[in-house]
Amino acid sequence: MKIEDILAQERRARMAAERLLAQKQAELSDANRVLSQHALSLSDEITETREVVEEIKGENTQVRADLEKANKEVVIAKRRLWDSLETIEDGFAVFDQSNRMIAANSAYLKPFDGLTCVAPGIRYVDILNIATEEGIVDIGDLRPLAWRDMMLDRWHAPKRDPMNLRLWDGTHIQLVDRRSRDGDMVCLGLNITETITYQTKLKEARFRAEAANRAKSAFLANMSHEIRTPMNGVVSMAELMVEGELDDEQRIYVDTIRKSGEALLTIINDVLDYSKIEAAKLALNPQPFDLEKTILDVVTLLQPTVQEKGIQLSIDFDLFMPTKFMGDAVRLRQILTNLIGNAVKFTSEGHVLVRAIGLPAADDKDYRVHISVEDSGIGIPKEMQAHIFGEFNQVEDEHNRRYEGTGLGLAIARQLVKLMEGDIWLESKEGKGSCFGFNISLPALDHVVEPNLPDAPGKAVLALTEGLNKTILDKRLRALGFEVTLTSATANLIDICNGAQLVFVDEALCTAATSELDPLRALKSAYPDINLILLTPPQKRAPDCSCVTVASHVLHTPVLRGVLFDTLSKLSFPPAMPDALQQSDKLSTKATAAQDQTRVMRVLAAEDNKTNQLVFSKLVKSLNIDLRFANNGLEAVEAFLDFKPDLIFMDISMPEVDGKEATRRIRLIEKDQHMPRTRIVALTAHALTGDAEETLAHGLDKHLTKPLRKPAIFDEIMATCPVGAISPIEDA
Ligand code: ADP
Repeated sequence: MKIEDILAQERRARMAAERLLAQKQAELSDANRVLSQHALSLSDEITETREVVEEIKGENTQVRADLEKANKEVVIAKRRLWDSLETIEDGFAVFDQSNRMIAANSAYLKPFDGLTCVAPGIRYVDILNIATEEGIVDIGDLRPLAWRDMMLDRWHAPKRDPMNLRLWDGTHIQLVDRRSRDGDMVCLGLNITETITYQTKLKEARFRAEAANRAKSAFLANMSHEIRTPMNGVVSMAELMVEGELDDEQRIYVDTIRKSGEALLTIINDVLDYSKIEAAKLALNPQPFDLEKTILDVVTLLQPTVQEKGIQLSIDFDLFMPTKFMGDAVRLRQILTNLIGNAVKFTSEGHVLVRAIGLPAADDKDYRVHISVEDSGIGIPKEMQAHIFGEFNQVEDEHNRRYEGTGLGLAIARQLVKLMEGDIWLESKEGKGSCFGFNISLPALDHVVEPNLPDAPGKAVLALTEGLNKTILDKRLRALGFEVTLTSATANLIDICNGAQLVFVDEALCTAATSELDPLRALKSAYPDINLILLTPPQKRAPDCSCVTVASHVLHTPVLRGVLFDTLSKLSFPPAMPDALQQSDKLSTKATAAQDQTRVMRVLAAEDNKTNQLVFSKLVKSLNIDLRFANNGLEAVEAFLDFKPDLIFMDISMPEVDGKEATRRIRLIEKDQHMPRTRIVALTAHALTGDAEETLAHGLDKHLTKPLRKPAIFDEIMATCPVGAISPIEDA
């Protein structure tokens, strides 16, 4: 190899070595740089760590100081808590989940005084055992084991009610135990001895007060009763004296005695009732009764006052509510008498309306009966309304009283409604009027029997004077499907009644008519088939006008719903009936005739005396007859029309319309309506010669004297039994 080549080769090798060296030097300087950076950051870190360590060192000292302070505070709090728990007189204890006592205050441990085993660590069951074994707790009639089990059941129950215990020394403790969220049981034993002692004393005092009140009411009730008996004597004797021979002055004296006696009796009766209710001596006596009739009776009694005052008193009895219910009619009548009586008393013009509405209960047997008494009287100021049902509360003060009364009526009414489990209320506006209402539940004894009318019964005309009776009758007839035309005059009655099925005429309009021809007779001769009903006021026992003979029926206002339905059922509505219906009607008439073959004999006895009615019904008890009583002559005439008796026994002296007058009216009706003559037998106490002749002269067929004798009554009945009726004596 040439030297130049060798030199070149060396040069190249040196250059490569120089390059490698430079590279290695660069790498070394890089590494040095990294190293120095690392060393730098390391020293930074060390500085930082040192600072943190210093900081933590400071904090640690603080924490230690805080901890020490907190510990001290916990100790203080614990001591305070225990001091407090020790101070209260009620027991406090805590049990853990395994029912061991953790802690208890002295009050809790006090009953176990001297028993060192009752201390933290003891099980609850052991405390119970000790309590019974040592006789610490009064366990009543229970055996110790049973009591312990009962207490344990309570302890383990998910929820516990507070429980009262009596200890051997008469202390009363109420246990209130509650489980905490972590399963501990926190127990309180509250000392309720004072409360129990107070309650017992209160109970005894209340019992004594109630007994004293009952004794007072019983005394009042007895006294009122004692006063009532002689007062009855005074009033009855005064009544008898009025009937005797007295000069005018004496009559005024006796009448004053009678009226004052009656007023005193009313007051005594109020006091008596109120005292009876107070003394809890008043019990309800439920009997079957007719609600509509009860309301009507009260309204009828008040009619004289109503007439005198010139106000209207009407009844709106729910058309579709039964009338027969089970309830204490006497007490119900008392409530009604008070409410309706007050309404009349405090109303000088306008009206009083008694409304009865019934809502059937789900079983359709019980009815919620609402009765309201609305008046257009003086009303009651708002501030008085809340107290008006209290005792002796009257709107006017005692110095300027215009109205009589004891101020007990509404209090009695409220108590009676309460006794019937109902509510009573009042709505009133001073100067405008009042509405008193009450509701009670009554079991219904019948269903509403609607009158058997054609689907479209046609036109009805009400020729009545204005007033509530007209409004109510109008409402009822419309509800039954009639098209009603109203008029308050009889002048053009014939024109108005053209096409009418049914006409109600007020007797007052009829008697006021000036035309020569009686308007009803004229109407009847124009439309012979028309159903004509004459309405007469309640206080009048019989209509005056002679047109009574052309009327199909005479009804007293207000017309009872049952009476209206009965009357309508008896009417016929020929023009409205289609042929087919008329045909079926004829068939049904035949059927009735056939049924008549098996009907029982109808006997009417007109007798006002209830005892005599009882005697009569006992006499004929064994006979198979349909017996009905009329309480006076007027009822006898009405019963003659709707009961159609085969035989009438007629008492002669009866109030209002006597037997002779009743017979005269019956004979007149028979004649006018071409009816066969019904046998009427007089029953009288008059046995003097000449009485029989006098009685017979009034259209009666026979004269029997009292006391009644069974054979004579039987003979009459047997002899009069019509052909086709079942014999009243079975074997006859
Ligand atoms: P009284 O025997 O005084 O009527 P009540 O207890 O029946 O006793 O009535 C108490 C008072 O309530 C009455 O004195 C009267 O002031 C008032 N009052 C009762 N009903 C009515 C009424 N319908 N209209 C106006 N005030 C009435």
